[in-house]
Amino acid sequence: MTHSVSSSQDFASQDFASQDFDCQSCGACCAYSADWPRFSLETDEELDRIPAEYVAADLGGMRCENDRCTALDGTLGRFVACKIYAVRPIVCRTCMPGDDECLIARARHFGAAA
Ligand code: SF4
Ligand code: SF4
Repeated sequence: MTHSVSSSQDFASQDFASQDFDCQSCGACCAYSADWPRFSLETDEELDRIPAEYVAADLGGMRCENDRCTALDGTLGRFVACKIYAVRPIVCRTCMPGDDECLIARARHFGAAA
């Protein structure tokens, strides 16, 4: 899932589950729920690297505005980037293009044919 503002090359070179979906022109899973992403097995040191402005008031996940993670930059379906890509939560790292969550998020934003 999404992609760094400063290191899109890193993002593009990742070993995705599917090459059929371009996360940099999507962003659907980063704008799917006000309750996502939540933190899970991150260490305190890892969480400390996430700028506080993007962390939810309960400190349990990323801060969202409506359903959209505040670390998501850009326009859904056109060009998007994760402003904290290098330090993003574990659930963001494990969500893969083409998996069930990806397809559900894309269908919600772009329709069933997405
Ligand atoms: S919904 Fe799928 S294709 Fe879109 S950014 Fe997330 S993982 Fe990538
Ligand atoms: S932290 Fe980055 S990858 Fe995770 S939901 Fe927010 S914008 Fe997307």
